[in-house]
Amino acid sequence: MDENAWKSAALSRRKNGYDRLPAGDRPAMDAYADAYRAFLDASKTERCCVKESIRLAEERGFRPYQRGGPLKPGDKIYSVNRGKMLLLAVIGEQSLAAGAQIAAAHADCPRLDLKPVPLYEDSELAFLKTHYYGGMRKHQWTAIPLELRGVVVLRSGETREIALGAGPGEPKLVITDLLPHLSHEQDKKILREAFTGENLNVLVGSVPLVGEDKDRVKLGVLKLLYERYGITEDDFISAELEAVPAFNACEIGLDGSMIGAYGQDDRVCGYAALRALLDLDGCPVKTAVCVLADKEETGSNGVTGMQTAAFDTFMEDLCQTQNVPLRVCLENSFCLSADVTAAFDPNFPEVFEKRNTARLNYGPGVCKYTGSGGKKNTSDASAEAMAYIRRIFDENNIVWQTSELGAVDAGGGGTVAKFMANRNITTLDAGVPVLAMHAPFEITSKLDCYMTYLAMQTVYEN
Ligand code: MN
Ligand code: MN
Repeated sequence: MDENAWKSAALSRRKNGYDRLPAGDRPAMDAYADAYRAFLDASKTERCCVKESIRLAEERGFRPYQRGGPLKPGDKIYSVNRGKMLLLAVIGEQSLAAGAQIAAAHADCPRLDLKPVPLYEDSELAFLKTHYYGGMRKHQWTAIPLELRGVVVLRSGETREIALGAGPGEPKLVITDLLPHLSHEQDKKILREAFTGENLNVLVGSVPLVGEDKDRVKLGVLKLLYERYGITEDDFISAELEAVPAFNACEIGLDGSMIGAYGQDDRVCGYAALRALLDLDGCPVKTAVCVLADKEETGSNGVTGMQTAAFDTFMEDLCQTQNVPLRVCLENSFCLSADVTAAFDPNFPEVFEKRNTARLNYGPGVCKYTGSGGKKNTSDASAEAMAYIRRIFDENNIVWQTSELGAVDAGGGGTVAKFMANRNITTLDAGVPVLAMHAPFEITSKLDCYMTYLAMQTVYEN
Protein backbone atom coordinates (compact mmCIF):
# COMPACT_ATOMS: atom_id res chain seq x y z
CA MET A 1 0.00 0.00 0.00
CA ASP A 2 1.18 3.46 -0.93
CA GLU A 3 2.43 5.28 2.15
CA ASN A 4 -0.11 8.08 1.61
CA ALA A 5 -3.00 5.96 0.44
CA TRP A 6 -4.56 5.98 3.89
CA LYS A 7 -4.62 9.76 3.75
CA SER A 8 -6.69 10.05 0.61
CA ALA A 9 -9.04 7.43 2.00
CA ALA A 10 -9.32 8.95 5.47
CA LEU A 11 -9.59 12.66 4.74
CA SER A 12 -12.87 14.21 3.69
CA ARG A 13 -12.48 16.34 0.58
CA ARG A 14 -15.60 18.25 -0.33
CA LYS A 15 -15.18 20.08 -3.61
CA ASN A 16 -17.03 23.00 -5.09
CA GLY A 17 -19.68 21.69 -7.45
CA TYR A 18 -18.10 23.50 -10.39
CA ASP A 19 -14.95 21.38 -9.88
CA ARG A 20 -17.09 18.28 -10.15
CA LEU A 21 -19.80 19.10 -12.67
CA PRO A 22 -18.98 17.54 -16.04
CA ALA A 23 -18.77 20.33 -18.65
CA GLY A 24 -21.33 18.44 -20.71
CA ASP A 25 -23.90 18.93 -17.95
CA ARG A 26 -23.91 22.73 -18.16
CA PRO A 27 -26.58 23.01 -20.90
CA ALA A 28 -28.91 20.68 -18.96
CA MET A 29 -28.30 22.70 -15.81
CA ASP A 30 -29.03 26.00 -17.58
CA ALA A 31 -32.17 24.63 -19.24
CA TYR A 32 -33.35 23.37 -15.86
CA ALA A 33 -32.75 26.81 -14.31
CA ASP A 34 -34.76 28.52 -17.08
CA ALA A 35 -37.70 26.14 -16.60
CA TYR A 36 -37.49 26.63 -12.84
CA ARG A 37 -37.68 30.42 -13.19
CA ALA A 38 -40.79 30.10 -15.38
CA PHE A 39 -42.30 27.81 -12.71
CA LEU A 40 -41.65 30.42 -10.01
CA ASP A 41 -43.27 33.17 -12.05
CA ALA A 42 -46.39 31.04 -12.46
CA SER A 43 -46.42 30.00 -8.78
CA LYS A 44 -46.70 33.15 -6.69
CA THR A 45 -49.12 31.50 -4.22
CA GLU A 46 -49.68 27.93 -3.02
CA ARG A 47 -52.85 27.72 -5.14
CA CYS A 48 -51.02 28.98 -8.24
CA CYS A 49 -48.16 26.56 -7.50
CA VAL A 50 -50.55 23.59 -7.28
CA LYS A 51 -52.30 24.65 -10.47
CA GLU A 52 -49.05 25.06 -12.41
CA SER A 53 -47.77 21.72 -11.09
CA ILE A 54 -50.96 20.01 -12.28
CA ARG A 55 -50.58 21.63 -15.69
CA LEU A 56 -47.02 20.31 -15.99
CA ALA A 57 -48.04 16.86 -14.68
CA GLU A 58 -50.94 16.51 -17.12
CA GLU A 59 -48.61 17.43 -19.98
CA ARG A 60 -46.57 14.41 -18.95
CA GLY A 61 -49.49 12.01 -18.80
CA PHE A 62 -50.54 12.23 -15.14
CA ARG A 63 -54.28 11.96 -14.48
CA PRO A 64 -56.42 12.63 -11.41
CA TYR A 65 -56.92 9.48 -9.35
CA GLN A 66 -60.48 8.40 -8.51
CA ARG A 67 -60.73 6.33 -5.34
CA GLY A 68 -61.30 2.66 -6.09
CA GLY A 69 -59.93 2.82 -9.62
CA PRO A 70 -57.46 0.07 -10.56
CA LEU A 71 -53.74 0.90 -10.63
CA LYS A 72 -50.90 -0.93 -12.34
CA PRO A 73 -47.13 -0.40 -12.37
CA GLY A 74 -46.17 2.67 -14.38
CA ASP A 75 -49.48 4.49 -13.80
CA LYS A 76 -49.06 8.23 -13.21
CA ILE A 77 -51.64 9.81 -10.97
CA TYR A 78 -52.31 12.84 -8.81
CA SER A 79 -54.77 14.04 -6.22
CA VAL A 80 -55.47 17.64 -5.18
CA ASN A 81 -56.40 18.51 -1.63
CA ARG A 82 -58.67 21.59 -1.63
CA GLY A 83 -56.64 23.36 -4.30
CA LYS A 84 -53.69 23.90 -1.94
CA MET A 85 -51.91 20.58 -1.54
CA LEU A 86 -50.86 18.23 -4.31
CA LEU A 87 -50.02 14.54 -4.11
CA LEU A 88 -48.58 12.74 -7.13
CA ALA A 89 -47.42 9.17 -7.62
CA VAL A 90 -45.90 6.84 -10.18
CA ILE A 91 -46.82 3.29 -9.31
CA GLY A 92 -43.78 1.03 -8.94
CA GLU A 93 -43.05 -2.55 -9.96
CA GLN A 94 -42.91 -3.75 -6.36
CA SER A 95 -45.90 -3.96 -4.08
CA LEU A 96 -46.59 -1.00 -1.81
CA ALA A 97 -45.88 -3.46 1.01
CA ALA A 98 -42.22 -2.78 0.17
CA GLY A 99 -42.84 0.90 0.90
CA ALA A 100 -42.85 4.04 -1.22
CA GLN A 101 -40.06 6.50 -2.01
CA ILE A 102 -41.46 9.89 -1.02
CA ALA A 103 -40.27 13.45 -1.57
CA ALA A 104 -42.19 16.00 0.50
CA ALA A 105 -41.81 19.73 -0.14
CA HIS A 106 -44.07 22.68 0.62
CA ALA A 107 -45.81 25.11 -1.73
CA ASP A 108 -46.66 27.89 0.74
CA CYS A 109 -44.33 30.83 1.38
CA PRO A 110 -44.17 33.82 3.72
CA ARG A 111 -46.51 36.55 2.52
CA LEU A 112 -49.07 39.09 3.70
CA ASP A 113 -52.62 37.73 3.95
CA LEU A 114 -55.51 40.18 3.83
CA LYS A 115 -57.65 40.36 6.97
CA PRO A 116 -61.37 39.51 6.62
CA VAL A 117 -62.23 43.23 6.86
CA PRO A 118 -59.24 44.71 5.06
CA LEU A 119 -60.30 47.85 3.19
CA TYR A 120 -60.24 51.27 4.85
CA GLU A 121 -59.53 54.88 4.13
CA ASP A 122 -57.28 57.17 6.13
CA SER A 123 -56.37 60.74 5.18
CA GLU A 124 -57.83 60.23 1.71
CA LEU A 125 -55.68 57.19 0.95
CA ALA A 126 -57.10 53.65 0.69
CA PHE A 127 -55.35 50.72 2.37
CA LEU A 128 -55.75 46.98 2.93
CA LYS A 129 -55.06 45.54 6.40
CA THR A 130 -52.86 42.43 6.40
CA HIS A 131 -51.89 39.67 8.79
CA TYR A 132 -48.44 38.36 7.97
CA TYR A 133 -48.05 34.63 7.27
CA GLY A 134 -44.89 32.76 8.23
CA GLY A 135 -41.59 33.95 9.66
CA MET A 136 -40.90 37.42 8.40
CA ARG A 137 -38.49 40.31 8.90
CA LYS A 138 -41.20 42.89 8.50
CA HIS A 139 -39.07 45.79 7.27
CA GLN A 140 -38.15 43.78 4.17
CA TRP A 141 -41.72 43.96 2.94
CA THR A 142 -42.02 47.75 2.83
CA ALA A 143 -41.17 49.92 -0.18
CA ILE A 144 -41.22 47.08 -2.71
CA PRO A 145 -43.79 46.49 -5.46
CA LEU A 146 -46.51 44.04 -4.42
CA GLU A 147 -49.31 42.27 -6.22
CA LEU A 148 -52.49 40.77 -4.83
CA ARG A 149 -53.25 37.13 -5.62
CA GLY A 150 -55.82 34.64 -4.49
CA VAL A 151 -59.48 33.78 -4.54
CA VAL A 152 -62.74 35.37 -3.47
CA VAL A 153 -65.56 32.88 -3.02
CA LEU A 154 -68.96 34.53 -3.34
CA ARG A 155 -71.86 33.55 -1.10
CA SER A 156 -73.18 31.51 -4.02
CA GLY A 157 -70.01 29.40 -3.95
CA GLU A 158 -68.77 30.87 -7.20
CA THR A 159 -65.01 31.56 -7.15
CA ARG A 160 -63.36 34.70 -8.51
CA GLU A 161 -59.63 34.45 -9.10
CA ILE A 162 -57.89 37.67 -8.24
CA ALA A 163 -54.62 38.85 -9.78
CA LEU A 164 -54.19 42.56 -9.15
CA GLY A 165 -50.90 44.12 -10.19
CA ALA A 166 -49.72 40.86 -11.69
CA GLY A 167 -50.06 41.61 -15.40
CA PRO A 168 -47.29 43.31 -17.38
CA GLY A 169 -47.63 47.09 -17.16
CA GLU A 170 -50.38 46.84 -14.57
CA PRO A 171 -50.26 49.17 -11.52
CA LYS A 172 -48.68 47.53 -8.46
CA LEU A 173 -49.36 47.90 -4.74
CA VAL A 174 -46.95 48.92 -1.97
CA ILE A 175 -46.44 49.27 1.79
CA THR A 176 -44.92 52.63 2.64
CA ASP A 177 -41.84 53.12 4.82
CA LEU A 178 -40.61 56.06 6.79
CA LEU A 179 -38.17 58.51 5.21
CA PRO A 180 -34.70 58.60 6.89
CA HIS A 181 -35.17 62.32 7.55
CA LEU A 182 -37.96 61.51 10.00
CA SER A 183 -37.01 58.07 11.28
CA HIS A 184 -34.75 59.20 14.14
CA GLU A 185 -37.06 57.86 16.86
CA GLN A 186 -37.82 54.65 14.96
CA ASP A 187 -34.11 54.08 14.32
CA LYS A 188 -33.50 53.85 18.08
CA LYS A 189 -35.83 50.87 18.44
CA ILE A 190 -34.72 47.27 18.08
CA LEU A 191 -35.55 45.95 14.63
CA ARG A 192 -38.23 43.54 15.83
CA GLU A 193 -40.18 46.38 17.44
CA ALA A 194 -39.52 49.15 14.93
CA PHE A 195 -41.81 47.57 12.35
CA THR A 196 -45.12 46.23 13.61
CA GLY A 197 -47.56 43.83 11.99
CA GLU A 198 -50.33 46.42 12.16
CA ASN A 199 -48.20 48.80 10.13
CA LEU A 200 -48.08 46.43 7.17
CA ASN A 201 -50.99 48.11 5.39
CA VAL A 202 -51.06 47.91 1.61
CA LEU A 203 -51.65 51.19 -0.25
CA VAL A 204 -54.30 50.59 -2.92
CA GLY A 205 -55.66 53.94 -4.08
CA SER A 206 -55.83 57.73 -3.84
CA VAL A 207 -58.51 58.95 -6.24
CA PRO A 208 -61.73 60.08 -4.54
CA LEU A 209 -65.08 59.19 -6.07
CA VAL A 210 -66.33 62.63 -7.02
CA GLY A 211 -69.87 63.41 -5.86
CA GLU A 212 -69.65 61.33 -2.66
CA ASP A 213 -69.01 62.93 0.71
CA LYS A 214 -67.54 60.13 2.89
CA ASP A 215 -64.87 57.45 2.36
CA ARG A 216 -64.56 58.65 -1.21
CA VAL A 217 -61.23 56.95 -1.97
CA LYS A 218 -62.36 53.65 -0.45
CA LEU A 219 -65.51 53.85 -2.58
CA GLY A 220 -63.37 54.45 -5.64
CA VAL A 221 -61.40 51.26 -4.92
CA LEU A 222 -64.60 49.28 -4.26
CA LYS A 223 -66.02 50.51 -7.57
CA LEU A 224 -62.94 49.24 -9.43
CA LEU A 225 -63.16 45.85 -7.69
CA TYR A 226 -66.88 45.61 -8.40
CA GLU A 227 -66.42 46.45 -12.06
CA ARG A 228 -63.47 44.12 -12.58
CA TYR A 229 -64.44 41.14 -10.42
CA GLY A 230 -68.04 41.71 -9.33
CA ILE A 231 -66.98 41.57 -5.68
CA THR A 232 -68.23 43.64 -2.75
CA GLU A 233 -66.75 44.68 0.61
CA ASP A 234 -68.42 41.73 2.38
CA ASP A 235 -66.94 39.28 -0.12
CA PHE A 236 -63.51 39.80 1.48
CA ILE A 237 -64.90 37.72 4.35
CA SER A 238 -64.85 34.59 2.21
CA ALA A 239 -61.53 35.18 0.50
CA GLU A 240 -57.90 34.13 0.60
CA LEU A 241 -55.97 37.06 -0.77
CA GLU A 242 -52.22 37.32 -0.46
CA ALA A 243 -49.96 40.30 -1.11
CA VAL A 244 -46.79 38.91 -2.67
CA PRO A 245 -43.80 40.56 -4.41
CA ALA A 246 -44.66 41.86 -7.87
CA PHE A 247 -41.42 40.95 -9.58
CA ASN A 248 -40.34 37.89 -11.51
CA ALA A 249 -37.41 35.53 -11.03
CA CYS A 250 -34.12 36.60 -12.58
CA GLU A 251 -30.49 35.56 -12.86
CA ILE A 252 -28.07 37.01 -10.31
CA GLY A 253 -24.35 37.69 -10.57
CA LEU A 254 -22.22 38.89 -13.47
CA ASP A 255 -21.79 35.20 -14.28
CA GLY A 256 -25.54 34.60 -14.06
CA SER A 257 -24.84 31.64 -11.80
CA MET A 258 -27.57 32.31 -9.27
CA ILE A 259 -31.32 32.80 -9.22
CA GLY A 260 -33.06 35.60 -7.36
CA ALA A 261 -36.80 35.31 -6.77
CA TYR A 262 -39.66 35.37 -4.31
CA GLY A 263 -40.83 32.05 -2.91
CA GLN A 264 -37.81 29.82 -3.46
CA ASP A 265 -38.40 28.41 0.04
CA ASP A 266 -39.68 25.92 -0.77
CA ARG A 267 -40.70 25.97 -4.40
CA VAL A 268 -37.08 25.31 -5.31
CA CYS A 269 -37.31 21.85 -3.72
CA GLY A 270 -40.95 21.48 -4.76
CA TYR A 271 -40.02 21.99 -8.39
CA ALA A 272 -37.07 19.59 -8.11
CA ALA A 273 -39.28 16.91 -6.51
CA LEU A 274 -41.99 17.46 -9.12
CA ARG A 275 -39.71 17.57 -12.18
CA ALA A 276 -37.81 14.49 -11.05
CA LEU A 277 -41.11 12.61 -10.77
CA LEU A 278 -42.35 13.84 -14.16
CA ASP A 279 -39.03 12.92 -15.77
CA LEU A 280 -38.95 9.36 -14.36
CA ASP A 281 -38.05 6.99 -17.14
CA GLY A 282 -40.40 4.03 -17.27
CA CYS A 283 -41.59 2.34 -14.14
CA PRO A 284 -39.69 2.80 -10.84
CA VAL A 285 -38.96 -0.21 -8.64
CA LYS A 286 -40.92 1.21 -5.72
CA THR A 287 -43.86 3.58 -5.96
CA ALA A 288 -42.57 7.16 -6.15
CA VAL A 289 -44.61 9.83 -4.38
CA CYS A 290 -44.24 13.60 -4.52
CA VAL A 291 -46.03 15.82 -1.99
CA LEU A 292 -46.41 19.58 -2.29
CA ALA A 293 -47.87 20.51 1.08
CA ASP A 294 -49.41 23.71 2.36
CA LYS A 295 -49.05 25.54 5.72
CA GLU A 296 -45.44 24.50 6.43
CA GLU A 297 -44.51 28.07 7.25
CA THR A 298 -47.08 28.17 10.07
CA GLY A 299 -46.45 24.70 11.50
CA SER A 300 -47.98 22.26 8.97
CA ASN A 301 -51.33 22.40 10.74
CA GLY A 302 -54.80 22.31 9.27
CA VAL A 303 -56.51 20.32 6.59
CA THR A 304 -53.91 21.09 3.89
CA GLY A 305 -50.77 21.05 6.07
CA MET A 306 -48.46 18.03 6.23
CA GLN A 307 -50.10 16.85 9.46
CA THR A 308 -53.38 16.36 7.60
CA ALA A 309 -54.87 12.90 7.22
CA ALA A 310 -55.22 13.73 3.52
CA PHE A 311 -51.72 12.30 3.00
CA ASP A 312 -52.56 9.04 4.81
CA THR A 313 -55.86 8.85 2.95
CA PHE A 314 -54.07 9.19 -0.40
CA MET A 315 -51.54 6.51 0.52
CA GLU A 316 -54.28 4.26 1.86
CA ASP A 317 -56.21 4.61 -1.39
CA LEU A 318 -53.13 3.45 -3.30
CA CYS A 319 -52.49 0.61 -0.84
CA GLN A 320 -56.06 -0.60 -1.07
CA THR A 321 -55.68 -1.30 -4.80
CA GLN A 322 -53.02 -3.86 -3.79
CA ASN A 323 -54.65 -5.09 -0.57
CA VAL A 324 -51.71 -3.74 1.42
CA PRO A 325 -52.30 -2.38 4.95
CA LEU A 326 -51.25 1.30 5.07
CA ARG A 327 -49.11 0.74 8.17
CA VAL A 328 -47.03 -1.86 6.36
CA CYS A 329 -46.42 0.52 3.48
CA LEU A 330 -45.46 3.43 5.75
CA GLU A 331 -43.04 1.49 7.94
CA ASN A 332 -41.11 0.44 4.85
CA SER A 333 -41.21 3.83 3.15
CA PHE A 334 -38.48 6.43 2.90
CA CYS A 335 -39.17 10.16 2.84
CA LEU A 336 -36.85 12.90 1.77
CA SER A 337 -38.20 16.00 3.45
CA ALA A 338 -37.26 18.35 0.64
CA ASP A 339 -36.88 21.78 2.17
CA VAL A 340 -34.33 24.53 1.85
CA THR A 341 -31.51 25.15 4.29
CA ALA A 342 -29.60 28.30 5.18
CA ALA A 343 -26.54 28.96 3.03
CA PHE A 344 -23.42 30.35 4.69
CA ASP A 345 -23.37 34.11 4.21
CA PRO A 346 -19.91 35.72 4.65
CA ASN A 347 -21.69 38.99 5.48
CA PHE A 348 -23.07 37.42 8.66
CA PRO A 349 -20.55 34.74 9.71
CA GLU A 350 -21.46 35.09 13.39
CA VAL A 351 -24.76 33.20 13.11
CA PHE A 352 -23.23 30.20 11.33
CA GLU A 353 -20.82 27.46 12.30
CA LYS A 354 -18.64 27.27 9.24
CA ARG A 355 -17.82 23.58 9.32
CA ASN A 356 -21.44 22.49 9.44
CA THR A 357 -23.20 25.02 7.29
CA ALA A 358 -24.19 24.52 3.67
CA ARG A 359 -22.40 26.61 1.05
CA LEU A 360 -23.59 27.82 -2.29
CA ASN A 361 -22.53 25.52 -5.16
CA TYR A 362 -21.84 22.49 -2.98
CA GLY A 363 -25.19 20.87 -3.81
CA PRO A 364 -28.20 20.08 -1.63
CA GLY A 365 -27.58 20.23 2.08
CA VAL A 366 -28.43 16.99 3.89
CA CYS A 367 -29.70 17.98 7.30
CA LYS A 368 -29.70 15.25 9.96
CA TYR A 369 -31.83 17.42 12.22
CA THR A 370 -33.30 20.91 12.32
CA GLY A 371 -35.08 22.29 15.40
CA SER A 372 -33.78 24.74 17.99
CA GLY A 373 -32.62 24.94 21.59
CA GLY A 374 -30.95 21.54 21.84
CA LYS A 375 -32.52 19.71 18.86
CA LYS A 376 -36.03 20.43 20.12
CA ASN A 377 -38.96 19.87 17.78
CA THR A 378 -37.10 17.94 15.15
CA SER A 379 -36.90 14.53 13.61
CA ASP A 380 -33.26 13.60 14.20
CA ALA A 381 -32.58 11.18 11.35
CA SER A 382 -30.77 7.97 12.24
CA ALA A 383 -27.19 7.15 11.31
CA GLU A 384 -28.64 4.38 9.15
CA ALA A 385 -30.77 6.86 7.19
CA MET A 386 -27.75 9.14 6.72
CA ALA A 387 -25.69 6.17 5.51
CA TYR A 388 -28.38 5.26 2.98
CA ILE A 389 -28.48 8.77 1.53
CA ARG A 390 -24.68 9.03 1.45
CA ARG A 391 -24.50 5.80 -0.47
CA ILE A 392 -27.15 6.51 -3.09
CA PHE A 393 -26.03 10.13 -3.64
CA ASP A 394 -22.37 9.12 -4.03
CA GLU A 395 -23.20 6.17 -6.29
CA ASN A 396 -25.12 8.53 -8.56
CA ASN A 397 -22.49 11.32 -8.58
CA ILE A 398 -24.70 13.82 -6.80
CA VAL A 399 -22.81 16.87 -5.55
CA TRP A 400 -24.11 17.17 -1.99
CA GLN A 401 -23.07 18.41 1.42
CA THR A 402 -24.16 18.32 5.04
CA SER A 403 -25.91 21.24 6.67
CA GLU A 404 -27.13 22.60 9.95
CA LEU A 405 -29.50 25.55 10.19
CA GLY A 406 -27.04 28.01 11.74
CA ALA A 407 -24.90 27.88 14.87
CA VAL A 408 -26.13 26.20 18.05
CA ASP A 409 -28.62 28.48 19.83
CA ALA A 410 -28.42 31.17 17.13
CA GLY A 411 -32.06 30.45 16.30
CA GLY A 412 -33.40 27.48 14.41
CA GLY A 413 -36.30 26.20 12.38
CA GLY A 414 -38.23 23.16 11.30
CA THR A 415 -39.61 21.33 8.29
CA VAL A 416 -42.25 18.71 7.54
CA ALA A 417 -39.72 15.97 8.41
CA LYS A 418 -41.03 15.34 11.92
CA PHE A 419 -44.60 14.94 10.68
CA MET A 420 -43.50 12.29 8.18
CA ALA A 421 -41.29 10.56 10.74
CA ASN A 422 -44.18 10.56 13.25
CA ARG A 423 -46.04 8.41 10.73
CA ASN A 424 -43.38 5.71 11.10
CA ILE A 425 -41.65 6.69 7.85
CA THR A 426 -37.83 6.81 7.80
CA THR A 427 -37.26 10.49 7.04
CA LEU A 428 -34.34 12.74 6.24
CA ASP A 429 -34.13 16.46 5.45
CA ALA A 430 -32.30 17.69 2.38
CA GLY A 431 -32.62 20.75 0.22
CA VAL A 432 -31.18 23.73 -1.58
CA PRO A 433 -29.06 26.23 0.40
CA VAL A 434 -30.64 29.70 0.26
CA LEU A 435 -29.22 33.17 0.91
CA ALA A 436 -31.63 35.72 2.40
CA MET A 437 -34.18 33.00 3.15
CA HIS A 438 -37.73 34.32 3.78
CA ALA A 439 -36.86 37.71 2.28
CA PRO A 440 -39.17 38.81 -0.55
CA PHE A 441 -36.19 38.10 -2.83
CA GLU A 442 -34.25 34.91 -2.04
CA ILE A 443 -31.04 33.69 -3.67
CA THR A 444 -30.09 30.15 -4.75
CA SER A 445 -27.40 28.79 -7.06
CA LYS A 446 -28.29 27.11 -10.33
CA LEU A 447 -25.89 24.28 -9.60
CA ASP A 448 -27.57 23.52 -6.27
CA CYS A 449 -31.03 23.67 -7.86
CA TYR A 450 -29.99 21.24 -10.59
CA MET A 451 -28.18 18.89 -8.20
CA THR A 452 -31.25 18.80 -5.97
CA TYR A 453 -33.30 17.73 -8.98
CA LEU A 454 -30.80 14.90 -9.68
CA ALA A 455 -30.87 14.00 -5.98
CA MET A 456 -34.68 13.67 -6.08
CA GLN A 457 -34.44 11.38 -9.10
CA THR A 458 -31.97 9.26 -7.17
CA VAL A 459 -34.39 8.97 -4.25
CA TYR A 460 -37.28 7.92 -6.50
CA GLU A 461 -35.15 5.34 -8.28
CA ASN A 462 -33.53 3.73 -5.20
MN1 MN B 1 -39.24 25.69 3.87
MN1 MN C 1 -39.50 28.65 5.40
